[in-house]
Amino acid sequence: MEDLYEADLHCHTNASDGLFSPRELVKLAKQKGLKVIAVTDHDTIGGWVEAERAGKEHGMEIIKGIEVNTEWHEQEVHILGYGIDNTADLSRQLHVIQEKREDRVYQILEKLKQLGKPLTEEDVLRFVKGDSVGRPHIAQAMVEQGYIKTVKEGFKEYLNIGAKAYVPRYILKPEQAIKIIREARGVAVLAHPGDQKVSREVIASWVNYGLQGLEVSHPEHSPEVEEYYIEIVGEMDLLATGGSDFHGEGIKPEISLGKWGASLQQVSKLKFLILKAKAG
Ligand code: AMP
Ligand code: FE
Ligand code: FE
Ligand code: ZN
Repeated sequence: MEDLYEADLHCHTNASDGLFSPRELVKLAKQKGLKVIAVTDHDTIGGWVEAERAGKEHGMEIIKGIEVNTEWHEQEVHILGYGIDNTADLSRQLHVIQEKREDRVYQILEKLKQLGKPLTEEDVLRFVKGDSVGRPHIAQAMVEQGYIKTVKEGFKEYLNIGAKAYVPRYILKPEQAIKIIREARGVAVLAHPGDQKVSREVIASWVNYGLQGLEVSHPEHSPEVEEYYIEIVGEMDLLATGGSDFHGEGIKPEISLGKWGASLQQVSKLKFLILKAKAG
């Protein structure tokens, strides 16, 4: 039996770029003996309803979340939002972001065409099950066309920042994502800070904007990096969370659900902060 956490607070479904439906994700979590999962799709809450329904059936606690993609100094910064309310204002903002994602996909397809790697919209849409399209869907279509062997190779050659078919995203700043989450009465947590080597000072400035926690356990973090962010959590009295950033092994082969995550005690703290956000 693998040594797994009881809670995985960072999971993607096919509402964005995950391979599993929310129901399949819940079933897998159950099989692995997890107690709690958070559904945190990129820029969409489209997976919530099915996840909650499946959670009830399988006795799995579901935390409703989101991961909002932003840009900071030409790097990706992702902000996790937990327990947010599905307000009209939130839907409006997410709708704008989702439309920008679609525009970006078309621009990337244009570049790929010029590079002699044409894909039709249909080629890509075959992999899209929800309302948030992204580069992983393009990478999967490229694998299917035989242009590349793996999704990873697609990112390296074509889709990463600076690669041949890269198109910048619709630029939302981390502060704006924090604001969107807090205004929807959710808890804002910085996802995988080690990925961008976010410093103490920058974290402190985002805490001033309303950031409440750091994701410390994450596949991109070495034990030293995890330790560094745990220290900052202690110093700034923040919440520590963790998750596998699960997308399904077809997207990221080495990542398995529950291998990174949080304790039930950390989940209790998160839930307390969510309740406080509702009351505040
Ligand atoms: P997008 O949302 O379109 O900007 O695409 C970003 C997403 O692509 C991330 O959330 C990851 O899930 C995925 N991704 C980024 N780099 C890689 C990679 N090297 N291999 C597989 N998936 C990746
Ligand atoms: Fe993703
Ligand atoms: Fe992320
Ligand atoms: Zn993620």
